[in-house]
Amino acid sequence: MKIIMLGAPGAGKGTQAKKLAVKYKIPHISTGDIFRLNIKAGTPIGLKAKVYIDQGQLVPDDLVVELVIDRLKQPDCERGYLLDGFPRTIPQAQALDAALDQKNDSIDCAIDVNVPDENIIKRMSGRRACLNCGATYHIEHIPPKKEGICDVCGNDLILREDDKPETVKKRLEVYHKQTQPLIDYYRKKKKLLSVDGTKDMDAVFNNIMKALEA
Ligand code: AMP
Repeated sequence: MKIIMLGAPGAGKGTQAKKLAVKYKIPHISTGDIFRLNIKAGTPIGLKAKVYIDQGQLVPDDLVVELVIDRLKQPDCERGYLLDGFPRTIPQAQALDAALDQKNDSIDCAIDVNVPDENIIKRMSGRRACLNCGATYHIEHIPPKKEGICDVCGNDLILREDDKPETVKKRLEVYHKQTQPLIDYYRKKKKLLSVDGTKDMDAVFNNIMKALEA
């Protein structure tokens, strides 16, 4: 199974992606996670990407495409994969299609987790992350046991630079302009599944499963 998760930043696609990857026993490939790991490790890719990420901008296509196409060549991707946060632009989608085409392959479906902007701004300003171990929380929905402290490793929790309201607004603008056109792109290819992402996490997951099995 080769699945793409679409949806605005903060729509909950990452959470759903993790659950689906477990269900189908396929690797969960999140370009955002890959960049964050590279930033933490101070790699050249991380240093380049950080400038864009901190401003709510997309990292340039060539940097992302190379990273993902390389990742898909790993043996764990042979049985499929779940792409979370990629593609995010039409040129990225075309580059992915072209790379798969060469192997007579194609993705199975693109899942759009649909959530209005107002809900997203509310959700994201409540997110807290541990920069040490990567655990994420939400001050209302998934609070840590002790305020501001990671349950897993005891480090301080922070509001990520790219989750701050002004950056979220910028990211939504970027999403509508550059990523939303992918919904039509996959609809035209008859690969699109759309689900209401405003419901609770389990309901969204059940709806995705129903749509996949229909
Ligand atoms: P995410 O965790 O998926 O929201 O990604 C965090 C940030 O990483 C995004 O706001 C972008 O700056 C960058 N990023 C992740 N995936 C991509 C992509 N496919 N194309 C360009 N930039 C990306």
